[in-house]
Amino acid sequence: MKNNEIIDKKPITDGLIDYEKIYEKFSWETLKKELNINDGRVNIAYDAVDKHAQTWRKNKVALYWEGADGTCQKYTFLELKSLTNKCANMLQKLGVKKGDRVFLFLPRLPELFISMVAIAKLGAIAGPMFSAFGPDAVRDRLQNSEARVLITTPELKERVDTVLWELPKLEHIILVNDDKREGAEEEGNVYYHTLIKDSSDTFETEWMKLEDPLYILYTSGTTGKPKGVTHVHNDMISHYITTKWALDLRDDDIYWCTADPGWVTGTVYGLWGPWLCGISLYVYDGRFDAAKWYESIQNHKITVWYTAPTALRMLMKAGDEVIEKYDLSSLRYICSVGEPLNPEVIRWGSKGYGLPIHDNWWQTETGSIMIANYPCLPIKPGSMGKPFPGIKAAIIDGKGFELPAGQHGLLALKPGWPSMLRTIWGDEKRFKEYFNVNGWYATGDTAYKDEDGYFWFVGRADDVINTSGHRVGPFEVESALLEHRAVAESGVIGKPDAERGEIIKAFVVLREGYKPSKELEEELKIFIRHHLAAHAYPKEIEFCTNLPKTRSGKIMRRLLKAKDLGLPTGDLSTLED
Ligand code: ATP
Ligand code: MG
Repeated sequence: MKNNEIIDKKPITDGLIDYEKIYEKFSWETLKKELNINDGRVNIAYDAVDKHAQTWRKNKVALYWEGADGTCQKYTFLELKSLTNKCANMLQKLGVKKGDRVFLFLPRLPELFISMVAIAKLGAIAGPMFSAFGPDAVRDRLQNSEARVLITTPELKERVDTVLWELPKLEHIILVNDDKREGAEEEGNVYYHTLIKDSSDTFETEWMKLEDPLYILYTSGTTGKPKGVTHVHNDMISHYITTKWALDLRDDDIYWCTADPGWVTGTVYGLWGPWLCGISLYVYDGRFDAAKWYESIQNHKITVWYTAPTALRMLMKAGDEVIEKYDLSSLRYICSVGEPLNPEVIRWGSKGYGLPIHDNWWQTETGSIMIANYPCLPIKPGSMGKPFPGIKAAIIDGKGFELPAGQHGLLALKPGWPSMLRTIWGDEKRFKEYFNVNGWYATGDTAYKDEDGYFWFVGRADDVINTSGHRVGPFEVESALLEHRAVAESGVIGKPDAERGEIIKAFVVLREGYKPSKELEEELKIFIRHHLAAHAYPKEIEFCTNLPKTRSGKIMRRLLKAKDLGLPTGDLSTLED
């Protein structure tokens, strides 16, 4: 048993004050020592919940939860400690032990957050999934991970029932009743609230090695079949410091990460990172709605907001009049991740919210933010920012040689940061492929670095378009289109062409009040010629009412392309309705 002595250290710093100096001096080893981490005596759940429950933070609210119907609940760190202990005891009684996979197919209910922590306390491996997944997506993940237990709701279980016969390894399904009513239970089912009622609220947390697995998250499936990225308890070192320095979270913040834990952003920065830092989280378990989102910021006095370009583009589409109806003055810091953040969105945000939006870049595989815009550095709209301290990022050619500033190439990272993926579950071969280019971790994205060391995203390596000898990233065309007053959103692909290699095709969603027409099509083409480059103009434009997106809100360009060319659509398990 680890002794429960607490040395309430002064935080390492209140924020990243001098980027260059800290980047130069930073060492993961030193940070690990400062955090008092002893291999074999760790558990992220202890550091994220139990530890705070023994300090002045015990009565601090860890979770402000709001349901789609407006119901609000709150949980302090002390209450969370007790609830996660009860849940861990319940799982243990069902036979769950260290290393077992427990999957979660839940809306963003408090029980989702509680279960994730409880699973970690047991030393088991959590697998959060989007509650909007269909039966096939759930089956694929449960099969691949050989999950023993699934926690879901009675409604969602109906989707699982259709594939249950394909899941021989699944031993228990625990049901979370939305209304937590007793008596509303069907025989033969196992109910969360019935089981935890008699569970003890003390639990001996399993002490782990830093390399013991913590969670499996399947990638967004933007480029193909999702991969089961496996992370370990050691990730907490990265979670902690990136939350502090890239999201700039401080003890008095009320923080809202709009991502679902079914996406890595929702697991790392919607749970572990902020709780490791003892921050109060707000969670809204409802659908996107511009007015409701602003109301949440206003009513809950959100100070730091972490969201995604898709959401921001939708908010921009909803217009400034909605913003004006709400008091958003509590906000002090806004971040975005998941897709390239169009400069136009940053400009609009700076006006509408009076705050710049800080883009940052990372992947399910990297387990934490790798490149970011920081409070202490100027933002260059359209750039992802600079590498996080302790992260060496480079632009390389196909052989692994570093390219000079300004040249497009593969975005690569030097392996060895704490939250780097440890394997692809059940596919060690695929895991090794990430390191095929001369020992670099190859991200699969293309980018360039400017003279000041800022990184600029060009596109997924597969999405970059080769037209008449020019390499064009879809992002630059999409961003240029967004600067036209009629455009709400667009997805750009390369289409094979005998003469030019590829031509550029843009799928365009119009803003309210604009209608598709030949004239508008021509206007957009001319607009791109003038604003971007003659070679980058979309030879074909197709107007549409929406774009295919993943559950994490990423434009699925491969699907636009497959449909356009009449090719097989590939894995669609993560496609939004
Ligand atoms: P899959 O690997 O299954 O195709 P995915 O790559 O979309 O899915 P994630 O790990 O969720 O799955 O996303 C990581 C990718 O998202 C990055 O490789 C990059 O292409 C994109 N991305 C994330 N943040 C940014 C950003 N700030 N700017 C540009 N692209 C980003
Ligand atoms: Mg990926």
